[in-house]
Amino acid sequence: MTTVTAYAAPVGKAPLERTTIERRPLGESDVMIDIEFCGICHSDIHQVREGWGDGIFPMVPGHEITGVVTEAGSKVTRFTVGDRVGVGCMVDSCRRCENCKAGLEQYCLDQPTWTYNAIGKDGQPTYGGYSQKIVVDENYVLRIPEGLSLDVAAPLLCAGITTYSPLKFWNAGPGKRVAVVGFGGLGHMGVKIAHALGAEVTVLSQSLRKKDDGLRLGADHYYATADAKTFTDLAGSFDIIINTVSVPLDYAAFLSLLRTSGALVNVGIPEEEVQVSLASIFGNRRSLTSSNIGGIRETQEMLDFCADHQLGAEIELIEAGQINEAYERVANSDVRYRFVIDTATL
Ligand code: NAP
Ligand code: ZN
Ligand code: ZN
Repeated sequence: MTTVTAYAAPVGKAPLERTTIERRPLGESDVMIDIEFCGICHSDIHQVREGWGDGIFPMVPGHEITGVVTEAGSKVTRFTVGDRVGVGCMVDSCRRCENCKAGLEQYCLDQPTWTYNAIGKDGQPTYGGYSQKIVVDENYVLRIPEGLSLDVAAPLLCAGITTYSPLKFWNAGPGKRVAVVGFGGLGHMGVKIAHALGAEVTVLSQSLRKKDDGLRLGADHYYATADAKTFTDLAGSFDIIINTVSVPLDYAAFLSLLRTSGALVNVGIPEEEVQVSLASIFGNRRSLTSSNIGGIRETQEMLDFCADHQLGAEIELIEAGQINEAYERVANSDVRYRFVIDTATL
């Protein structure tokens, strides 16, 4: 076992504090990673605060991890010491079901092993990236391409893939109109990626206060959803709407912005159950759907795409002692546009 420093919530809803955790001994197909940076995803906050249900405590959140390989097990073939790598939301899956075989490990029929707040195959709780080191099977480790620095690459491991995967699946590209609802961690990456894919991109934010940034990062248009006129002006406009908002919205209003056969893809995961009238979809064969991160192969494809297009995240680099303050700011939509922890400060 290796003892490492980490930041953990000792119990549900509690502030995070410095502690130590044990990492498992290196298995033959494992790599040991020295973590350099870890992004703060809104999902970390939902889970620490038990908004999605009971959590496993102490909880060390963090699934936007970048760092460097420091040890490789005897059967590791894909990585060597010194490689720049990333770990996202999952660290294992069954590897046998039809979804795992198809590269859709995030939809493993036996449930993927999430990077934290889960029980690993060794029967022990998993702990995430707000820590100095992590041991991960090489098949669930990504390569960070040269040309992407590790700090701005970290948020790609969740915010990047969560927006890239549905944009690709629903064919965002030239001639397609894409709207991104919510301009936060996921939203700003959605705008950058949709723009790089060649789509016409519109941001639908609560207000216009981040409009300049939105246009600078790749949006063609930027509207405030607090203004009722937005919904009349844009009725029937979009092929794809990616909704990144972490609380329930008036889904009927957003569905009315879709063209015939368009799709509203919910990637935000509100804590409350939501209600939608089917009347808002059948009239124009609209789809109300969702998407969960992306598979390992697609995550590597996304990282390579982001490196080719120079798409890092816009980050606020923080010290470990600022994590609780950062949580408050994310909860208040006051983030530009992803907090990333410098793990040297743990
Ligand atoms: P975030 O940085 O907090 O961004 C969410 C954005 O939603 C905010 O910046 C804000 O944008 C908007 N928003 C917040 N409160 C709102 C309200 N009351 N009404 C309207 N808009 C509001 O969070 P994130 O890290 O991007 O995560 C967003 C959601 O996605 C979370 O629920 C998270 O758990 C989920 N998630 C899902 C996946 C997946 O695989 N499906 C992966 C990662 C995260 P504006 O200020 O521009 O309005
Ligand atoms: Zn996340
Ligand atoms: Zn599986």
